[in-house]
Amino acid sequence: MNLPLTIKETQEGLKSKKFSAVELVDTYLEKIKKYNDEYKIFLTINEEGAYKKAKEIDNSDFTLPLFGVVGSYKDIFLTKGIRTTAGSKILENFIPPYSATIVKKLENAGVISIGKLNCDAFAHGSSGENSDFGTTLNPWNKEYTAGGSSSGSGAALSSGMSLISIGTDTCGSIRLPANYGYLFSLKPTYGAVSRYGVIAMASSLDTVGPLAHTVSDVETVFNVIKGKDYLDATVTEKSINNKNSKFKIGIPKEFFVGGLSKEIEKNIGEVIKIYKNENVEFIDVSLPSTKYGISVYYIIQPAEVSSNLSRFDGIRYGGLRDSFGEEAKRRIMLGSYVLSAGFYDAYYEKAMKVRTIIKNEVDSIFTKVDALIAPVAPTPAFKLGEKTNDPLSMYLTDIYAATANLSGIPAIAIPSGFSDKKLPLGFQLMAPRFGEDILFKLGKIFELATDYKPKVAF
Ligand code: GLN
Repeated sequence: MNLPLTIKETQEGLKSKKFSAVELVDTYLEKIKKYNDEYKIFLTINEEGAYKKAKEIDNSDFTLPLFGVVGSYKDIFLTKGIRTTAGSKILENFIPPYSATIVKKLENAGVISIGKLNCDAFAHGSSGENSDFGTTLNPWNKEYTAGGSSSGSGAALSSGMSLISIGTDTCGSIRLPANYGYLFSLKPTYGAVSRYGVIAMASSLDTVGPLAHTVSDVETVFNVIKGKDYLDATVTEKSINNKNSKFKIGIPKEFFVGGLSKEIEKNIGEVIKIYKNENVEFIDVSLPSTKYGISVYYIIQPAEVSSNLSRFDGIRYGGLRDSFGEEAKRRIMLGSYVLSAGFYDAYYEKAMKVRTIIKNEVDSIFTKVDALIAPVAPTPAFKLGEKTNDPLSMYLTDIYAATANLSGIPAIAIPSGFSDKKLPLGFQLMAPRFGEDILFKLGKIFELATDYKPKVAF
């Protein structure tokens, strides 16, 4: 069979007996076996479990919403009986006694879990280079980063090793790997999807969401994983019912100045033209405080990291503490500093106040527009090694991501072409909290207008 397949194509193929679920697993596993050693996309392959589930699907009546969908998870989601490392040596031998809620929900909906995906250790990073198990290479060009921290979640799809994948986004980690992989992805509203059984990075910012090849695949997966979970009190069940047939999108001027690559600026200009032809209106807007977003993020996030990582003390969880990598140590130190008695007011408290200002600005913009358009990152995928010695330049990769996480709003990453170097290009749309439906509608308008066809690198 020819990859990539969409969920619909997979399910039609299974129903019409064009192929079986076992043959689907054969196809994805063949890719994994051929390329995984070099590209370092999967950390653990669930071959036996995948075949067992595929046989069950082949003998079923094909009624579940995700029957036969081959899926994989960032290695930050607990999977009962299957090693879960968070990309860190500290958890090299950790076998969870239970599965994350989203893993259970997906498996109950018919997903065939094929394995666990590489990521930056504890999800700290934008390039996958902080993984303790080697760096994921970008299938579109192996000299470039696949994006982080959910690096395997993007590369598994762009290499045809999995149909859908799940990542986490604390400041861009679902959107960036999709953007660098010619994929769609959704960073949901904060609190829309359960985080029970997800290794926490920064709890006031962490979100869980899907990567896939089409908007409707992202939507289908989101509809399965979202919603109430009595094991996670932060989950709210809500959705804005948007009846609009005509949309208005804001272009925040602060997102189109400074370090944005000319290629991306031009590409988004073309995207806007395409939307205008489809009767979508654009207006210029301003979000003046979002320029502080990345500074605020790099105070609040390490503060929460320093607290969350304290459980890996070798007694409650984890092996030797000195197995923490450089990045985790940097964040624990920074976080402890901004929370310390003498500096709390100057850093943490101030950052929290600015976060509220950003949130209020964002909320008031959504009284004027249905969505906002922005780049995902300042440049297309960058070369491996380019930013590893300069943490600040690495942190700046997340400059356009921070607004959605700090204000808790949803954002969709959409592919929109290729650069001169043949690397994927894309953009993001953001909507008010629980406005995922607006993002799906706008994503589909773009797909239809451009006659979008999913692609894999090889
Ligand atoms: N790149 C950001 C960081 O390193 C965000 C990572 C994420 O979203 N998990 O903190």
